[in-house]
Amino acid sequence: MSYPFQIKSLEQYHIDYKKSLEDPEGFWSGVADSFEWRKKQPFSKKGLDWNFTEPSVKWFEGAKLNITENCLDRHLDSIGDRPAIIWEPNDPNEKVRTLTYKVLHKKVCEFAQVLRNNGVKKGDRVCIYMGMIPELVVAVLGCARIGAIHSVIFGGFSAQSIADRLYDAEAEYIITCDGAFRGAKDIPLKSIIDDALIGNRTVKRVIVHTRTRTPVSMIKGRDVWWRDEVEDVVESMHEEVLKVPAEEMDAEDPLFILYTSGSTGKPKGVVHTTAGYMLWTTYTFVNVFQYNPGDVFFCTADIGWITGHSYIVYGPLLAGATCLMFEGIPTWPDAGRFWDIVDKHKVNTLYTAPTAIRSLMSYGMDPLKDKDLSSLKVLGTVGEPINEEAWHWYDEHIGKKKCPIVDTWWQTETGGILISNLAGVTPAKPSWATLPLPGVKPVLVDEKGEEVTELTDTHYSGNLCLTMPWPGILRTTWGDHERCRQTYFSTYENKYFTGDGAFKDEEGNFRITGRVDDVLNVSGHRLGTAEVENAINMMAGVVESAVVGYPHELKGQGIYAYVVLDGRNRHEEDDQLTKQDLLATVSRIIGPIAKPDKIQFVSALPKTRSGKIMRRILRKVAEGELENLGDTSTLLDPAVVDEIKEGKI
Ligand code: ATP
Ligand code: MG
Repeated sequence: MSYPFQIKSLEQYHIDYKKSLEDPEGFWSGVADSFEWRKKQPFSKKGLDWNFTEPSVKWFEGAKLNITENCLDRHLDSIGDRPAIIWEPNDPNEKVRTLTYKVLHKKVCEFAQVLRNNGVKKGDRVCIYMGMIPELVVAVLGCARIGAIHSVIFGGFSAQSIADRLYDAEAEYIITCDGAFRGAKDIPLKSIIDDALIGNRTVKRVIVHTRTRTPVSMIKGRDVWWRDEVEDVVESMHEEVLKVPAEEMDAEDPLFILYTSGSTGKPKGVVHTTAGYMLWTTYTFVNVFQYNPGDVFFCTADIGWITGHSYIVYGPLLAGATCLMFEGIPTWPDAGRFWDIVDKHKVNTLYTAPTAIRSLMSYGMDPLKDKDLSSLKVLGTVGEPINEEAWHWYDEHIGKKKCPIVDTWWQTETGGILISNLAGVTPAKPSWATLPLPGVKPVLVDEKGEEVTELTDTHYSGNLCLTMPWPGILRTTWGDHERCRQTYFSTYENKYFTGDGAFKDEEGNFRITGRVDDVLNVSGHRLGTAEVENAINMMAGVVESAVVGYPHELKGQGIYAYVVLDGRNRHEEDDQLTKQDLLATVSRIIGPIAKPDKIQFVSALPKTRSGKIMRRILRKVAEGELENLGDTSTLLDPAVVDEIKEGKI
């Protein structure tokens, strides 16, 4: 494997960056030459066709391919015996599994046939709800092989959240496990799916893989065992199954739907298509991490989030890399688990989140004792701004000051990394994501959408927008294109608005300052404030609520909930109990990740005259900034604010 598009010097970065903006079609068409196409050129349409008003973005429409042939088949002759996935189980005493490209290819072909046998066709939506085991990758690629649209749901979501997503995607098929191991816990996935399916009318088939041996109920005619289905295929087709052609897909056919937390409560199904996503994940994987063939790459994310899609499954496999996949959590059996894994598997690149770094920092140096981390060459972070303290700890104690740290800024909607230094090639700057990748044209704008041209101190400050389409940009939100337009393309004319604020220095480096909207980031998990409020409001006796984030040492952000109870249900002496009921309710509806850290009962919420909750004020109170609440002139009833200040927890 070699990567003709790999950037090897700062000078080349500048040259490629310039070229990618001047001639995007030419530039990405060149990158596309490194892939396998059923039909590449001449494209039936233009290489790139776009506008940000509808919006409509099409890369290489008319070209044909199957992404799994690029992930697997094309590697078989050259690196077929190289590990594609090294799997580290939750329990460190259980056996490690290694799947070479040949083995993974075989499993994917077999499972693709299982899907066909069960009636799954191109374009059908398949929901995948599994733990972090290699079969999850097999399920994802099995779908892609036959052109079915996968929608992976993180194993921590509750039955209600799954039900909402199944409904939105009109999914007809589910792939799940009996259970999943996560640290000391055993999560009963199938039973949660059973709950999610109460009242569901679209799902026809549930394929169940066995992992934990948790007893499960299997409904005749609906539920089948993964193992039986695969055995049937192997017995009836033998090696022939490897020769069944993969489905031919258009470059712009949807590859997957991934739901993001969403700030309005209703889940938002981000849609990515085939060729653009393929180019973008490979290009960014190879360049940002400066991946070299043979390196062991360890991304600690869950495949239920976009980071796992792009940098455990697609990016690494497309690049023929060896990816380490971990089933468990960083603190079990103890807080040295990541370092054990790095030592045991001689990991070369570690890609994790600031929240994990901060949490591991809090255990001190003990968990690092006797761990050999000398195999590490590159470190990465993603998910939220990394504070300088965490950055320096990562640099000093994990990278031993010899590993470049890439601070990668991107979003579910962007498909892959957009702003980041390239490891060892372009300079790092603690807590700065630094420079945009080729193809990415960021701009900072003010409230009116005008480009910010005035320096504040040493930098420009504004709302981060992108003015050109890169291949990995989202194409729509499932079933609701207008929502896609509204959310991303309507705030500023002809610009994709990221929802994040940023600084830019005079050298063109970017620093992300956080979201300008109302989404919480709790230990790296994205939760819309509205989503949590909805859950709280579902409890009997709750009138309304408002949720804001506040700085939390370990979690990044904690959840502070202001709750108004109906008078009859408010008995001061019962407050503790009511709080516990609330926590149980939120856990049940969204999942334990959404449990508020602080709950304050109030008699009313501060509102504007037009009836909108003034979150700005609630945020200040939660942060302890009681003196400086800013403009309160539009408040309907200022007395409410005084009461809230007095009752602050
Ligand atoms: P939703 O779109 O539903 O509100 P979300 O934005 O929280 O969900 P993601 O797409 O996973 O979900 O997260 C992207 C966001 O994470 C970015 O917009 C940014 O706020 C933050 N982020 C990601 N990486 C970085 C980084 N390296 N530095 C700073 N912030 C980051
Ligand atoms: Mg977002």
